[in-house]
Amino acid sequence: MANIGIFGGTFNPIHKGHLKIAKIAAKRFNLKKVFFIVAKIPPHKSEENLISPLERLAMVKLAIKNIQNFQVDDFEIRRNRTSYSYFTLRHYRKLFPNDKLYFIMGEDEFKTIKKWYKSEKIIKLCSFIVFNRHTKSIASSFLKKSLPITYWIRIKPINISSTTIRNFLWRKSYVWIYLPRLVQKYIRKKLLYL
Ligand code: ATP
Repeated sequence: MANIGIFGGTFNPIHKGHLKIAKIAAKRFNLKKVFFIVAKIPPHKSEENLISPLERLAMVKLAIKNIQNFQVDDFEIRRNRTSYSYFTLRHYRKLFPNDKLYFIMGEDEFKTIKKWYKSEKIIKLCSFIVFNRHTKSIASSFLKKSLPITYWIRIKPINISSTTIRNFLWRKSYVWIYLPRLVQKYIRKKLLYL
């Protein structure tokens, strides 16, 4: 039996915060593989400023190119429908029937979980590895109690989001450092997020 990490996101664009939490999760939980699953149409996000799935996928590929146990998955892109995690997890359960599945996410996403499509089934399919995004944790003890198979990882907050990057990329130079080098190059070449 192996441990498998599932890391879903819009990755619009992927940034160093994503890589950092995936690396920490991989190390602490001895994850044999971490699959980065790029959402085609995120159910809970506005499509404003959402660049094409294939461009987001290309950036994830570049970002994880040299990281041995990280892999990109276009499962949600190939399914031409809203990217509900339930379908993805069910797919992974079938692919890895005897392994342990860990869903990696930030606290902001985790706190919405009860509103997700078929959330009561999702929580039976995997465990959760949840990272804080701010110094002050927004997680309530209620959430902690309600989902027993949840591992809370407290880190020094990585104060960056794709939204900040999209909003400031071409106007504030400091934002570029939060992007992996090959992703920087790709965005520059394709003039994305102008
Ligand atoms: P946006 O600003 O567009 O909402 P995002 O930066 O939150 O994007 P997503 O692709 O939505 O990026 O994130 C995928 C997952 O990674 C989510 O579970 C999110 O909570 C988590 N995540 C993203 N950035 C961080 C960060 N800096 N620290 C911890 N978790 C993060």
